[in-house]
Amino acid sequence: MMKKIIIGAMVSALSTVSLAQDKQQDVAFSPDTNRIKSHLFFLADDLLEGRDTGSRGHDIAALYIATEFAKYGLKPMGTDGYMQAVDFRKATLVQESPSLTLTTDKGETELKYPKEYLTGPDLLDTQSSLKGKMVFAGYGIIADELEHNDYKDIDVEGKIVVILSGKPKSFPSEMGAHLASGSQKAQYAIDNGAIGMISVTTPTAEKVRPYQSRLSYIHTPRLAWLDENDKPANTFEQLKGSAFLSEGAARQLFDNAEMSLDEIYAMLEKDETPPGFAIPGEISLQKQSKHSQITSPNVVAAVEGSDPELKDEYVVFSAHSDHIGFAKTVKKDNINNGAMDNASGTAVMLETARLFSQMENKPKRSILFVSVTGEEKGLLGADYFAHNPTVPVDKMVANVNLDMPILTYEFADVIAFGASHSDMKASVTEAANNAGIELSPDPWPEQALFTRSDHYAFVKQGVPSVFLVPGLKSKDPEVDGSKVFGQFLSTHYHMPSDDTNQNFNWDAARTFAEVNAQIGFTLATQEKAPTWNDGDFFGTTFGK
Ligand SMILES: [Zn+2]
Repeated sequence: MMKKIIIGAMVSALSTVSLAQDKQQDVAFSPDTNRIKSHLFFLADDLLEGRDTGSRGHDIAALYIATEFAKYGLKPMGTDGYMQAVDFRKATLVQESPSLTLTTDKGETELKYPKEYLTGPDLLDTQSSLKGKMVFAGYGIIADELEHNDYKDIDVEGKIVVILSGKPKSFPSEMGAHLASGSQKAQYAIDNGAIGMISVTTPTAEKVRPYQSRLSYIHTPRLAWLDENDKPANTFEQLKGSAFLSEGAARQLFDNAEMSLDEIYAMLEKDETPPGFAIPGEISLQKQSKHSQITSPNVVAAVEGSDPELKDEYVVFSAHSDHIGFAKTVKKDNINNGAMDNASGTAVMLETARLFSQMENKPKRSILFVSVTGEEKGLLGADYFAHNPTVPVDKMVANVNLDMPILTYEFADVIAFGASHSDMKASVTEAANNAGIELSPDPWPEQALFTRSDHYAFVKQGVPSVFLVPGLKSKDPEVDGSKVFGQFLSTHYHMPSDDTNQNFNWDAARTFAEVNAQIGFTLATQEKAPTWNDGDFFGTTFGK
């Protein structure tokens, strides 16, 4: 059944001239599920070999996306036609190389890699060496807004900070996700003069992401986009090394310290942040990394707006086209097809682009479609685009991100990460209600999803953003959405079985496309550009 949705465009009370044109601008959003399906099946085909950043499979995906944009008559908005090539440095850890030694007055202890600790490849140096005294610094977070400062009574100048992974339970989820992100913690450490950072697992971290599950990522290279001086972005020269300790290794570290690991964990249980203190002894970490350079494209296109002035402003749709390539384990099927991550979101974005291109009455603002690379490597393509946009950064008025919609059941609600920070929440709620579904709060605050997809790169450049995922409520009483989602995460997420053999529900795909397209339409049509809420943390921190 095709559904026609009437959107009453927002009308400016002051402008009587535009009133007649704007009044009841009827727009039929009828996503074609056959198109969504064919995009998804092409992008998730074995021939694309899991679309790893820089691979031929991903290049083919990018070419397919550019070809579709061209087919709909979209305006090329890359740096070379639709393409925006991004150069990356790729660093791979020499697996035999890491050595981590703990020296105390009791003697030397060599910790075992990767059983007891993990360390990633170094993007700046092929030979890394870190040696120094240690200071425990709680979670390693400084947040004036929450009157939290783990560095307040300690001196870490020239030393290695030892910090707990994650954040206090009492932190608001999206703000907390930002404050506890790796790059923020590295920044706090540097600001206080530290030379290295050792993170320690916690009972909460073990629940969210067990140490054991991290072992399957030890061969994963690290990438950073290169700026015009070929310097890797978001890297910290002052930090000479970092590592992540298992519970067992952490226990040894705190053995002679003021507090034992158990005493620290007991405080976390009560949501108390332990005080900082010097840890007796020294730590030294050595490792080798191999460097290479790769290039991978973002693909950028626009549907021009209808208003002579507002068309210089852009509502940005983003979806990552890359995935994680081949699985390391040698099995019959070793291709991570990424059907839901993110062939699904990309397919929805392509259909959204077609819908906007065919609209008779275009919205006032232009719509920019950005297919980003390197998401799985740390939101890199989006971060590159947000730093090197092909339209002025202050003309990007909003970002609507599409990532990993699980399209296997008819969902009765959506979760909109980021919506509560700006006045976009009203547009999201309206779009959801028009599609007959509800807006639900984040059911997984501990997953910090707000910082785990591409919209976060736009947020950090001050662009109000939303990122919708199908909620856990199901229209079908026989289907438990929460169970379906949990099963996806445990049996398909980042595995070769995230492929086209899954049980797709194309009505769900249609609803998802409809809701997102409507949000984009409203934002591009309303007189006023979206704004951060008054006093909002992200608006205050990054907004203009
Ligand atoms: Zn992913």
